[in-house]
Amino acid sequence: MSPLESSDHVVVVGAGLAGWRFVETIRRLGYHGAVTLVGDERHAPYDRPPLSKQILSGKWGLEKATLATPEKLDGVNATVLLGRRAVHLDADAKSVRLDDDSIVTGTHVVLATGTRARPLTFNSSGPLSTLRTFDDASRLDEMASALDPDSVVAVIGGGFVGAEVATSFLTRGLRPVVLEVAERPLMGVVGNEASAWLHRLGAAAGVEVRTRQRVRDVTVNANNVTIEFDDGKPLAARAVVAAVGSALDLEWLADSGLTLDDGVVVDHYLEAAPGIAAIGDVARFVHRSGLDEEHIRVEHWQVAADHAWQLAHHWMGEPEEPALPYFWSDQYGKKIQMLGHPHPDDEVVLVSGSEEDLKWLALYVRASVVTAVLALSQPRGLALARVLLDDVTTIDAALALAPWAS
Ligand SMILES: Cc1cc2nc3c(=O)[nH]c(=O)nc-3n(C[C@H](O)[C@H](O)[C@H](O)COP(=O)(O)OP(=O)(O)OC[C@H]3O[C@@H](n4cnc5c(N)ncnc54)[C@H](O)[C@@H]3O)c2cc1C
Repeated sequence: MSPLESSDHVVVVGAGLAGWRFVETIRRLGYHGAVTLVGDERHAPYDRPPLSKQILSGKWGLEKATLATPEKLDGVNATVLLGRRAVHLDADAKSVRLDDDSIVTGTHVVLATGTRARPLTFNSSGPLSTLRTFDDASRLDEMASALDPDSVVAVIGGGFVGAEVATSFLTRGLRPVVLEVAERPLMGVVGNEASAWLHRLGAAAGVEVRTRQRVRDVTVNANNVTIEFDDGKPLAARAVVAAVGSALDLEWLADSGLTLDDGVVVDHYLEAAPGIAAIGDVARFVHRSGLDEEHIRVEHWQVAADHAWQLAHHWMGEPEEPALPYFWSDQYGKKIQMLGHPHPDDEVVLVSGSEEDLKWLALYVRASVVTAVLALSQPRGLALARVLLDDVTTIDAALALAPWAS
């Protein structure tokens, strides 16, 4: 593809991290043509990770999570349409219809629409608080501020967001009770063994994490909430938050002709069709590990930021290699970090620290090759172990090299 020229017009749908970073990067790389950034939220682009951490724990005001300050917005010289939702894409014409029936036509389109909070899978007498957006965080902060110390708050879902919300509530002097449907939280992400090690974190921090809790009904009254399960005693709480995961919204792309398969399927260059790309949480992209190539979709901050960087460089004629998937999560007073993308059934080898100390480093191994590194409160070890994923490294070679110990 020839590089972007000043006669081009790039339309970016989704004004979150990926969309905003893409716009900033093409400008930094010298693109002078037109840019339109469309976002359905009323807010200028902001960062989501602080919502469940610094903001919900009361350490930051919401404004600190803003990515696109008024000066930065001015600086990128883009037409920014906020509070406007894209409802149709004509991929051949590269035109996007918005919810007010206006049409924005470009030469290139970037889909950066992320995900939404997943609809509830149980009955509820009223809408439940979730945490995905600025507005959600603001409502939850207000709700938490109104509660007396030691109030029980039920957090339905023990995944990343649920655990972080519980941690923030604990910091505020509330008593979170995490209700997880699976045998252990995060099993689908880190696998059986590592999830058992991480399962210790909640109790060690003083948070009750109940597993195998299939919620059936939630009844919300003015001052209390009752949660009923398929089996077991109901839980009475003062408030409840649903952190049951995320869902894609691809309906508006259904007749676009793009390949949709749990995400917008893209090639090595993040393109879904010539001149149309998908980046961030919405993209099902090609991940090359030492062993093979597979299409994956990842809902993590660094991946969205790296996609924006990679696509901007590709479209500006300065191709960059894709980065390794990476995530972190701050939960129960500890930092979990992972580099690479393991399969949940990869073998896990603990190479440093111990479960009991709540400080360790583990390698994931498939067909004798290291596929990922997971660290609990060992950021230096993780950074040093990155070298194992730069190339194909067998577990024997990794153990002999032991870069985490240098
Ligand atoms: C509370 C919370 C905490 C997190 N913490 C971490 C963490 O600690 N570590 C980590 O690695 N990741 C974390 N994440 C995940 C990380 O924030 C996401 O991976 C990242 O935001 C993805 O960026 P994105 O631009 O793809 O999507 P988003 O940030 O979701 O942005 C997409 C935007 O597009 C808008 N949009 C959607 N459809 C349309 C449409 N049709 N028209 C116009 N606009 C549309 C959406 O409303 C949204 O504003 C967290 C996420 C949340 C919610």
